[in-house]
Amino acid sequence: MPEIPEKLFLKSLQELVEVDKNWVPEATNGTLYLRPFMIATEAFLGVRPATKYKFVVIASPSGNYFRSGESTINIWVSDYTRAAPGGTGEAKCGGNYAASLVPTGEAFSHGYDQVMFLDAVERKWIEELGGMNLFFVFADGRILTPPLGGTILAGITRDSLISLLRDMGHEVIEDRYSIANLKRDVRSNALVEVIACGTAATVTSVGRVKSSKYNIVIGSESAGPVAKAARDKLIAIQTGEASDSFGWVMRIGNAS
Ligand SMILES: *Cc1c(COP(=O)(O)O)cnc(C)c1O
Repeated sequence: MPEIPEKLFLKSLQELVEVDKNWVPEATNGTLYLRPFMIATEAFLGVRPATKYKFVVIASPSGNYFRSGESTINIWVSDYTRAAPGGTGEAKCGGNYAASLVPTGEAFSHGYDQVMFLDAVERKWIEELGGMNLFFVFADGRILTPPLGGTILAGITRDSLISLLRDMGHEVIEDRYSIANLKRDVRSNALVEVIACGTAATVTSVGRVKSSKYNIVIGSESAGPVAKAARDKLIAIQTGEASDSFGWVMRIGNAS
């Protein structure tokens, strides 16, 4: 697929928001969700990259991302895998979601909000959720997030959180973390919070991690203080209530 020049990309968002700015929700925690995407539009039956693409941006007012509307989410650990080394796991492409639909349906049918994927090779390293990245907060203040290695989506929220959490004084390490160590560290109280993050849901605490074989309860199953502080800070920067020392915010439209 061709790469959209950054200037043109930003201009497309600016123009759409200008037209649709009355759809920006007034309610706190409401957002105007923007989804840029590209699809092949060439009429052709063979298997090769298309020569014609359409770039589209859609906007939709959005409220709470999760069905439950609660302050923590519960996660189902799938036996299915989402991405293998050497594949397309790091790309925001439709194909990756195909592999996550059955496991996500499984999570929903068990009453869980999201699915967690382990690595496809050893089936023990925690990678990410169906549409969110993960952070693990330890009692000593250290925070760990799985490293980008081609099988994980390099989320912009993950990237922002690494900077924000470091700015808040935490040591943030990108390292592998196994489901066995999660169990061990929860049992010894060395692990105090699990945080999930993504554009739509921003930052959320994980209350419970469950599979057909085990049930890991994180802390008191309520929203954790680090998740809450990071979420508040991120949203304050997004809404302009806090100053943006990172250069992330672009003002668009003629909002007063
Ligand atoms: C979109 C997505 C994320 C989160 O990425 P953001 O850029 O923060 O929205 C994480 N994992 C997967 C698989 C995703 O599709």
